[in-house]
Amino acid sequence: MSQSHPPMADELSPLMQQYHQLKQRYPGAILFFRVGDFYEMFDDDAVKGAQLLNIALTSRDKHKANPTPLCGVPAVAATGYIAKLIRAGQPVAICEQVEPHPGQTGLMAREVVRVITPGTILEPELLDPKQSTYVAALAQTGQSIGPITGIAWADLSTGQGWLSTTQSGRPQEAVAELLRRWSAKEIALPQHLIQQSSWQQALMEFRIVGRPPAEFDPENGRRQLLRHFRVESLAAWGGADEPAALGALGALLHYLEETQKQALPHLRAFRFHRPEHYMAIDPATQQHLELTERSSPAGHSRKESSATGSLLHAIDRTATAMGGRLLREWLLHPLLDPAQINERLDRVEAFCADEERRSSVRSALEPIGDLERIIGRISLNAATARDLIQLKHSIDQIPVIWKSLSEGESLLIELVAGWDELADLAQWIDAALVEAPPLALKEGGLIKPGYHAELDELREIGRDGKQWIARMEGEERQKTSIESLKIRYNQLFGYFIEVTKPNLPKVPPHYHRKQTMVNAERFITPELKALEAKVLGAEERSCRLEYELYEDLRAKVAAQAPRVQAMAERIARIDVLAALAESAALGRYQRPVVSDSLTIRITGGRHPVVEQALGPNRFVPNDLLLNDTDQRLIVITGPNMAGKSTYLRQAAHIVIMAQMGGFVPAQSAEIGVVDGIFTRIGATDDLVGGRSTFMVEMDETATILHRATPRSLVLLDEVGRGTSTYDGVSIAWAVAEHLHRAIGARTLFATHYHELTELSRQHEGIKAFHVSVREWNDEIIFLRTIVEGISDRSYGIQVARLAGLPDSVIATAKQVLARLESQAPPVSPSGDTVPNPQQPDLFEDSPLKQLAEELAALDPNNMTPMQALEKLINLVTLCRVLITQPGR
Ligand code: ADP
Ligand code: MG
Repeated sequence: MSQSHPPMADELSPLMQQYHQLKQRYPGAILFFRVGDFYEMFDDDAVKGAQLLNIALTSRDKHKANPTPLCGVPAVAATGYIAKLIRAGQPVAICEQVEPHPGQTGLMAREVVRVITPGTILEPELLDPKQSTYVAALAQTGQSIGPITGIAWADLSTGQGWLSTTQSGRPQEAVAELLRRWSAKEIALPQHLIQQSSWQQALMEFRIVGRPPAEFDPENGRRQLLRHFRVESLAAWGGADEPAALGALGALLHYLEETQKQALPHLRAFRFHRPEHYMAIDPATQQHLELTERSSPAGHSRKESSATGSLLHAIDRTATAMGGRLLREWLLHPLLDPAQINERLDRVEAFCADEERRSSVRSALEPIGDLERIIGRISLNAATARDLIQLKHSIDQIPVIWKSLSEGESLLIELVAGWDELADLAQWIDAALVEAPPLALKEGGLIKPGYHAELDELREIGRDGKQWIARMEGEERQKTSIESLKIRYNQLFGYFIEVTKPNLPKVPPHYHRKQTMVNAERFITPELKALEAKVLGAEERSCRLEYELYEDLRAKVAAQAPRVQAMAERIARIDVLAALAESAALGRYQRPVVSDSLTIRITGGRHPVVEQALGPNRFVPNDLLLNDTDQRLIVITGPNMAGKSTYLRQAAHIVIMAQMGGFVPAQSAEIGVVDGIFTRIGATDDLVGGRSTFMVEMDETATILHRATPRSLVLLDEVGRGTSTYDGVSIAWAVAEHLHRAIGARTLFATHYHELTELSRQHEGIKAFHVSVREWNDEIIFLRTIVEGISDRSYGIQVARLAGLPDSVIATAKQVLARLESQAPPVSPSGDTVPNPQQPDLFEDSPLKQLAEELAALDPNNMTPMQALEKLINLVTLCRVLITQPGR
């Protein structure tokens, strides 16, 4: 950011001097400078702010030679503007007036109370309830023997924190993968690392903050930790012996305290995360498989992605925000240990078997608020009374869940064994707060009557004040025998006694004259003023007292944060297990058999997302067998649109769903644990800006060849497509051979290069499969079934026609193809289809022939390509029914 030089101090008004002093300390943030009811921005901040927020830019001191650019937003509406800036990656420093009245200089005291950055948001309206927001820090030690990289990350809104280390020779990759999977937004690096382009490149998608190297010092980290967790030693704490992790953690705590300007008591003991205990899913794979986000269609920018259409969206039946976040964590961190996986599966199965209990637990979970974030706001003093009320209502649900589960089978009882009902917290809140408190904390109306004697009295005075005045009026009339005497009120004098002119002689001497009117005179008495002070002061004092009582309650509840956090975690787990059971029931998923073998055997597997999009019974199930002997690598051919990519992704989805502990969309599935999924999609399918697409493809392929093991599942989709045919075939061939021979990873290789099927003849362990299609009267029928053997041709022209290319173009294409085919026989050493023994010939069967003729008779000019596809899919499904049930 270009920082223009502040003008000389003596040219500036005191206000602007104060502004520049504060601004200097926050060069990277836009300073929201509170002036009355507005937040003002000045200078460069104003220019940038006006542009990003689309608000008017004006200037201060217009008459001067160098007017200061200025813009502002109303404080009441600030959240929306802050959200906009944060979304644009722009941190905001919030500067408040910290004292109610101006000091001697006539200037309000001002202070920056918080810096909001993309990774440190607390405002519920700016956060996605079902996604965590992590901020991280990274430190390196031991440069001489190959660096150890330590990394710490925390979600300020929930108080969750993690630590990890990596000794990978490519730490940039390891760190990027880790941050991506934890959906971090921001990372603090020591200044010198920022300058290295390898780190810049790898961490491009996160906001990078440079910090002084001293903050990353492990000793400093150790001290910070002892102070933060108020312990004497770190002996009981895993990872304490790892200086790199300590350095990262120290820097993270430092950064958080600096942005929050307060201690962060709710940050729980950081847990040690070991990436090697989870399936490796690198960022490219996470994206290709559309696990949590759907990639935008080709041609759109990468940022335009959405949750709908992702695997997470398809299986997310969680009832609470905490459950939603945990499900996402499980999905992106599938387990490797069959025992752990089966422990989850056992419970999902128990929920599957007991539909009634599942539904009662799910409805008890529904009203539970976001306990983790509510207690986070309570701890950080950012809560409203409504947060406390929501906490109370959520706690009220705990016994309901307990009752339901404790009557279930033993696996479910364990979920609630020995848990904390938090009833004391609910009682405190219930005793103190009214059921529907206002948002404002300092305007009263929060505390229940009967909670505090002094408050009740003040409120009574406020309420009864009018009656007391009326009573005094009566008494004064009697004493003075002035019938028309009135006690009245105005802004200027407060309460006063009014006596009309004719009655003035009766006014007693202790009445003190205040004002003379045309027909009357106004008086006050010490007695009246004392009453007035009581009545008028009561409301102000009762508001203040209410706020104090609220504060006491808040602090008392905040002190119990660890208990609430522990329960939130247990509830999230129950929510996820019940949700996995629910989606299994809805999707007719089956429990997978998970073991240590190297076999993946899926019968009747379906793609969980495509299946939902197509609707019931439209998706054609397929089998898959991969092992470490005769079927380790499968080359799959078939025309465009046949279903190759779908088949590949479906295999990955099923493996991930199984290893996260869920049921899978298949008739049966045997999953020999996969330690990593690596996916590459050919260049033309994947538009990524910047580098040449072919370069990206090769780069990503290189990563696979470095990282895959015999336990991995590798999915290669049209690799080699980004270059000329011969190049492409050669590269694809070499990659496949390497994977097979040198690595031995279980691999699915979808390609339209028929040449590659030759591999199956040369290597034991490589098989050729294809997606079956039929041609009828120059139309193509997709059968969506994967069968062993090699497909005969690629049907490109038929697919082009389906997509609505003009007839003349199709006709020309056919001529060219005919000419090419007659001139040069296909490179492929084999053009023939290996017949599939289980598949009857469709066209000997008369009902099928009828269907095919019906298809051929359809008029393509009267249909959109989508309608045509739809028709095709219907017919294909019918065909399948006839094939699998020949009697009909
Ligand atoms: P390819 O990679 O062979 O070009 P895709 O896998 O992209 O083909 O599939 C194209 C479309 O076909 C998908 O979008 C999906 O709608 C449909 N499809 C794929 N597989 C199946 C299936 N098994 N059953 C029903 N429809 C399918
Ligand atoms: Mg494809």
